[in-house]
Amino acid sequence: MKTTKKRTRIEWGFYIMAENQFYDLVIIGGGPAGLTAGIYAMRAALKTVLIEKAVPGGQMVMSDEVENYPGFEHISGIELSQKFAEHAQTYGLEIITNEIVQIRPGQKHHLVKLINGDVYKTHAVIIATGGSPKTLAIPGENDFYGKGVSYCGVCDGFFFRNKTVVVIGGGDSAAEEALYLAKLAKKVYMVHRRDELRAGMILQDRVKSEAKIEVLWHTICTAILAGSDGVNAVALKNVQDDKQWELPTDGVFIFIGFLPNNKLVPKGVKLNAEGYVITNEKCETSIPGIYAIGDLREKYARQIVVSASDGCIAALVAAHYVESRKATYV
Ligand code: NAP
Repeated sequence: MKTTKKRTRIEWGFYIMAENQFYDLVIIGGGPAGLTAGIYAMRAALKTVLIEKAVPGGQMVMSDEVENYPGFEHISGIELSQKFAEHAQTYGLEIITNEIVQIRPGQKHHLVKLINGDVYKTHAVIIATGGSPKTLAIPGENDFYGKGVSYCGVCDGFFFRNKTVVVIGGGDSAAEEALYLAKLAKKVYMVHRRDELRAGMILQDRVKSEAKIEVLWHTICTAILAGSDGVNAVALKNVQDDKQWELPTDGVFIFIGFLPNNKLVPKGVKLNAEGYVITNEKCETSIPGIYAIGDLREKYARQIVVSASDGCIAALVAAHYVESRKATYV
């Protein structure tokens, strides 16, 4: 990390670091949206830092196979993540592994505070913090997380080779993960609350023709049950006839959608009813110089290519904004 530890003055209750921590642009989040913003920002000669608390790639890292990113018929999520990060670094993008705890908007510039107390001053901030898996909030889900309950097939599927697993949900994620788990497990039950999957047609067809996958329609999971070795069954209920039963299983994978990671979004930025940031087509939020991109932003399609597109737009818009700020505040 290219910083000095010398604190120079205090502003708005934050410590402001030395001049080398005054950026044109701080990007928060290293998924496809943030990394693409990094590529475009560096090409626009903005002094930029990208801060990511985990590994670059975001949710993309958890995809076994990405088949709909143009130019790549098949590529693993991990490999595509590496390609995004390497591409950004060829332009010299500074990527820091750290956690942001607060964004403080200001008139002249914005402040971004890290968990270790360091503060970066910046003209513009692009928030690309994505989303996290929704939880079912049923008995056993929390207690047995990591002991048979998972939200990532690629991460945990290995532990269920030749075993039985239950996948909950009917969207693209549930379908993709069920197909991935079918390569490893002996049997995959997909538990879906309706009589039709939400997943795209290609995935639906693949699920239907995969012999190891059995879809339990009109069914919800009401509890996750476990013994001393972890999960051993799920309690299910048919929502049409109210029939209830227990289905033995070794693992439960939950894919029922995402919640936006909006914890860092400053007060004053407009959110929709589900907590997604409302932006205009330039990814501008209601606070000048603060942009929201990727899965955090209210939009129609949550796809890698759309996140990348957001990153491009926000960085180009931020470049104009930074130029005008520099002309105003030297
Ligand atoms: P999603 O599309 O919102 O689907 C969530 C699924 O979980 C739906 O089938 C929903 O049922 C079900 N569900 C929601 N709450 C539930 C609850 N409390 N109990 C039981 N079931 C519940 O979420 P996603 O699959 O995670 O996808 C998120 C976004 O990423 C989508 O826009 C998706 O297209 C995109 N994505 C795309 C790809 C790809 O293109 N390859 C891959 C992954 C994700 P209902 O259908 O009844 O509502």
